[in-house]
Amino acid sequence: MLDFQNACTIRFRMNKDVDIAKAVRQHLEMEQFFTGFAVKGKTEAPEPRQERSDSSAGCEKELEKLVNEVRQCRKCELGSLRTNAVPGEGSPRARIMFVGEAPGADEDAQGRPFVGRAGQLLDKIIAACGLKRSDVYIGNILKCRPPENRDPRAEEIISCLPYIQRQIELINPEIIVALGSHAAKTLLNSPKAIGQLRGQFHEYYAGFGRPPTKLMATFHPAYLLRNYVPENRKKVWEDMKKVLAELGLPVPQQSKN
Ligand code: URA
Repeated sequence: MLDFQNACTIRFRMNKDVDIAKAVRQHLEMEQFFTGFAVKGKTEAPEPRQERSDSSAGCEKELEKLVNEVRQCRKCELGSLRTNAVPGEGSPRARIMFVGEAPGADEDAQGRPFVGRAGQLLDKIIAACGLKRSDVYIGNILKCRPPENRDPRAEEIISCLPYIQRQIELINPEIIVALGSHAAKTLLNSPKAIGQLRGQFHEYYAGFGRPPTKLMATFHPAYLLRNYVPENRKKVWEDMKKVLAELGLPVPQQSKN
């Protein structure tokens, strides 16, 4: 995998016309080409997953170190604009890891992910799955809030990406749920729209020689709030039911949300 520190220091100068998704894809492809790191693709016969270790103390320490690093990060200009960095939170042994796009105003104020309106909806989705927030891990592609909640820029994604990659590597979840287009496209290195990506499992490679992690893409809770119609809610619930089934967890009766 691309060396963590080096990856963090990569800087891209881009004008407004640059296709963000393309720039990030090119970066990821270079990463794969030079180091064997892959974030998408299929293996014919995946290795069995490594046993989840009971002694997660090492992983917890590493996660803590990473959290502190994120809090001091100034790798892109968002570092000087934020109130608080939002490294992520949850169980270091989570079976499910949710990955969103970037903190909003509430998250920036509190330094915690998904605590605003979209977060309340995510909490409901987690509860509808019969789980608690503390059962899962919640992180974002960007750790700092883009001003006015604008879309993340390519250079910001590229600077920040090693953090979420490392979090996934350390937590080693059984399933990643990518919330929305930015998270799904970035983690899968795919140009496809969220409408095409959602609803099926993809493979995310957390590092060379490691078996792939299943990734389910679904709509972002903020999108759901803006388009709160039964059809979209049903789609997200269908996606989450697939996640629960894959984990062998019981599927609670459909909530009324
Ligand atoms: N939206 C996100 O993508 N992440 C958050 O943490 C909050 C809102």
